[in-house]
Amino acid sequence: RVTISSPVTRVDTFTPQELERVRSDFPTLSTEVNGHSLTYLDSGATSQKPLAVLDAERRYLVTENSAVHRGAHSLAAEATETFENARATVARFVGAGEDEIVWTSGATAALNLLAYSLSNAGSGGADAERFRVGPGDEILVTELEHHANLIPWQQLAARTGATLRFVPIDDDGALDLDDLDRLITERTKIVAVTHVSNVLGAVTPIELFVARAHAVGALVVLDACQSAPHLALDLHALDVDFAAFSGHKMLAPTGIGVLYGRRELLNALPPFLTGGSMITTVTMESAEFLPAPQRFEAGTQPVSQAIALGAAVDYLSSVGMDRIAAHEELLGQQLAEGLSAIDGVRLLGPAAGERRTGLASFAVADIHAHDLGQFLDDRGIAVRVGHHCAQPLHRRLGLTSSTRASTYLYSTENEVDEFLSGVTDAITFFG
Ligand code: PLP
Repeated sequence: RVTISSPVTRVDTFTPQELERVRSDFPTLSTEVNGHSLTYLDSGATSQKPLAVLDAERRYLVTENSAVHRGAHSLAAEATETFENARATVARFVGAGEDEIVWTSGATAALNLLAYSLSNAGSGGADAERFRVGPGDEILVTELEHHANLIPWQQLAARTGATLRFVPIDDDGALDLDDLDRLITERTKIVAVTHVSNVLGAVTPIELFVARAHAVGALVVLDACQSAPHLALDLHALDVDFAAFSGHKMLAPTGIGVLYGRRELLNALPPFLTGGSMITTVTMESAEFLPAPQRFEAGTQPVSQAIALGAAVDYLSSVGMDRIAAHEELLGQQLAEGLSAIDGVRLLGPAAGERRTGLASFAVADIHAHDLGQFLDDRGIAVRVGHHCAQPLHRRLGLTSSTRASTYLYSTENEVDEFLSGVTDAITFFG
């Protein structure tokens, strides 16, 4: 067993027996692919699901399924309680209040919801000034962003006449933080930044962004898609204004995600989608809206998926986020060291020995990522190839695509070894 030491904590990783027990909770890991037992190294795209999550969703659908927040009958009351308990569980998991957790269908939906609500705010109402984004204003992102945390801001800028700016990265993919003071100015209204790069595994120093953004009154939006599943997250402590993450990357099903917002901001922001379940009074002329989170939850919600997300974070908490992070940090280093040692491989992002989460992307000159992915797939090794929804990042690094291996709590050192052997053999084969 290895102990990870960081300046603040010493955390034990899993014993082999503990890891085996975790793996036995995930039926998909026993699947055979192309005649090999599956080596699943694509958790950055979507995670596998433990039985506890599948059981929780099924239990709800089999014993409680009903219309939440609507029916007068007992089953509806039970369903509503289970649904709202899931919200409270997720809120605790990320260090937020229950009323600060808005259900969405995923992170992409959460970020779009926010960007559209912000443009609605500009059109009038008591808080219009607070949220106004218009000509002369600036929205700041980084060159690392996943398209889901880039295009909604491009579109908001296009709708409002604001200017989109970005923090550049250097040749190694590191953010040029010296530029922050120049880029965050009195004109900056929104700073939208990823917590962990889905391509590089690098962790953004969010506190620098928050301090500078808040000094000029700008709102900070955190893309927590690659941090909420893998690191202990405390949104209040990070002091961000909004955050988004997806359930399917953290052991829950697809179709559920979260927009976190500071209570007073959510209650001041106009809704994006309107309709049933988000109002207090409706006349033929107008409507008044419920407080957050319901004002952002028009229509029927993904109830069983939300309950499953509650079960997923319960599962993660029972294993322990610090230990999960320590386990993945080791695997991330094993990936970075192993890839750096292979001739012809260009590791992207932090060098071996520098902090990264449990994922690594790389390129091999003269071998297309899709060919490499196919070669690995023939051995039952699942990785992601392509631009990973981060075309600007790849373009800056002089690439059109890369290959990414991404781990999770159930991944093993043997799997990483198999993957590294696969890459070595692919280079021999194609070379
Ligand atoms: N942001 C990051 C960093 C991601 O990795 C992803 C998913 O790959 C997203 C946003 C979008 O998440 P979703 O497709 O679940 O909406």
